[in-house]
Amino acid sequence: MSMAIEIVQLLIQSADSWLFEGSRSGLSDREWMALRFLARANRFSRTPTALASFLGTTRSVASQIAAVLQNKGLVARKPSADDKRSITLCITGDGERFLERDPINALRDQIVALEVPDRSRLRDTLRRVLVGLDVAQRRHHTDVCSQCMFLIESGERKERQFKCRLFRKSLAQKETSLFCAYFEGQT
Ligand code: SF4
Repeated sequence: MSMAIEIVQLLIQSADSWLFEGSRSGLSDREWMALRFLARANRFSRTPTALASFLGTTRSVASQIAAVLQNKGLVARKPSADDKRSITLCITGDGERFLERDPINALRDQIVALEVPDRSRLRDTLRRVLVGLDVAQRRHHTDVCSQCMFLIESGERKERQFKCRLFRKSLAQKETSLFCAYFEGQT
């Protein structure tokens, strides 16, 4: 078996942590994916449209998934702070606690157990593979600000300031590691 096929096979074997039939702890794999995304999405991406883009589905299907999470008390719909006509999907305290039952946690724990250099190599390699795949399939890639062409960084190390050129808004440092559906990779 070539090394590439062996790696693909290993990825497939690990996929049953997040891709499964039926439900685990009461949520389907897609509902878990949506809850996970909303827990890690930045303030511009907690919307039905951004959720649809991340899940690779329509806005109406994303809204149905958000409604299931809302009915379970895991997500709340709130008017957006920037535009009162828009809706923000916010994870609730119960939603945060529910993530402790996330079926993907078993895989996360195995990754946490790796040495830090191995973990960063794995992250960087997977990111490169995913970006290449998204380009080949003409699919939009969701990622974090620190890799985005719209991020402007200024100031000294201890007082670093961050701004998004796309939204023309300042960003707190902790926001730069959150998922953004409007991410554009460096060229
Ligand atoms: S810098 Fe990029 S990833 Fe960050 S908020 Fe702006 S568009 Fe999104």
